[in-house]
Amino acid sequence: MQTLDQIKSAIRHAMNSDFYKKHFAGINIEYIKSMDDFVKLPFTDKEDLRDAYPLGLQAVPDEEIVRIHSSSGTTGTPVIIPYTKKDVEDWALMFKRCYETAGCTSLDRIHITPGYGLWTAGIGFQAGAELLGALAIPMGPGNTDKQIKMMIDLKSTVICATSSYALLLAEEIEKRGVRDKIHLKKGVIGSERWGEKMRKRIAGELGVELYDIYGLTEIYGPGIGINCPNQDAMHMWTDYMYIEIIDPKTGEIVPDGETGELVITTLKKEGAPLIRYRTHDLTKIVPGKCECGMDYPRIATLIGRSDDMVKVRGSIIYPSRVDELLATIEGVSSEYQIMIDHLNGKDILTLFFETNVKIGDASHELEKTVENEFKHVIGLMPKAKAVGMGELPRSEKKSTRVFDNRY
Ligand code: ZN
Repeated sequence: MQTLDQIKSAIRHAMNSDFYKKHFAGINIEYIKSMDDFVKLPFTDKEDLRDAYPLGLQAVPDEEIVRIHSSSGTTGTPVIIPYTKKDVEDWALMFKRCYETAGCTSLDRIHITPGYGLWTAGIGFQAGAELLGALAIPMGPGNTDKQIKMMIDLKSTVICATSSYALLLAEEIEKRGVRDKIHLKKGVIGSERWGEKMRKRIAGELGVELYDIYGLTEIYGPGIGINCPNQDAMHMWTDYMYIEIIDPKTGEIVPDGETGELVITTLKKEGAPLIRYRTHDLTKIVPGKCECGMDYPRIATLIGRSDDMVKVRGSIIYPSRVDELLATIEGVSSEYQIMIDHLNGKDILTLFFETNVKIGDASHELEKTVENEFKHVIGLMPKAKAVGMGELPRSEKKSTRVFDNRY
């Protein structure tokens, strides 16, 4: 079986690194004779990579390394990923494929707003655009005035951005009344989970087709997958990686079509190969063949991080679902917090949300609406509590909306 051979050779190569010598100590690769054997191998997690700081992941001699990137840890030690010349080239090839899937050509002018530097974002967008033969405009983030001026004067046709920055640009363009001077046709948006509401606003205000690009610094960077026209799901470039979807609690593989955590094994990476790397991104394999004709398997738009997922009285709660359901209720802002407590032998879920409705009878009505809608969508009756705008503490990590006080 071809995949198994590729995986085994990836493992053999990974074991040249100090990290995998230790992580897979005592494992004899020759005993891996089937995919069932492979999935018994331990996962690799971000914490493990931190322990390998600075260059413990390096699996080739120094003279073959041409570049490093680093993922910004929210806490403490960063993770450093060394790249060989071939890794850098492979990444650009995958990124070029992403642009092509989005219908970009060498005539496009690609306006790149993600940051350049240790982070993999900007430089990945750049390398792929150059390989495509398009005109890359390496803006980096910030300075909205200049962004819009260049966009108009250079007639940028593709905007690359995070969803929040794309929204900000869309709003500024609207505010300045320069929409008719903008030539954008497509937006390539870096993977974060983002609601349908936001997507529609960006697409509508900029008048562009939107494409979700997937990636993470540990596995090359952005550009390892993208959606094709008119499809929510993202094709993954599985000639470069092997993907699994696991139950984040048990580590068991879930059937196609079921939500779980994406796990990636690199098949061709030289500098820092990773075996069964837990991305903590929640998604599912979309079964069947895609209308576009490409055979690359598809994963659904990310629905959140496995670290954020909680189970209360048998119902699984993803923050993205709560975002979406609150967005449909008028008078409820996007700021909310969920507290889960265990009282008198029972799990209690309290949902605090901000509202511009005056606290009193009207807000009590709103609380009832939120409770019923939550029960309808999530399958669990919460206790909803309305608070005034700006009353919930703002956290730096925007994803920290769920506080589980049960354990
Ligand atoms: Zn497709």
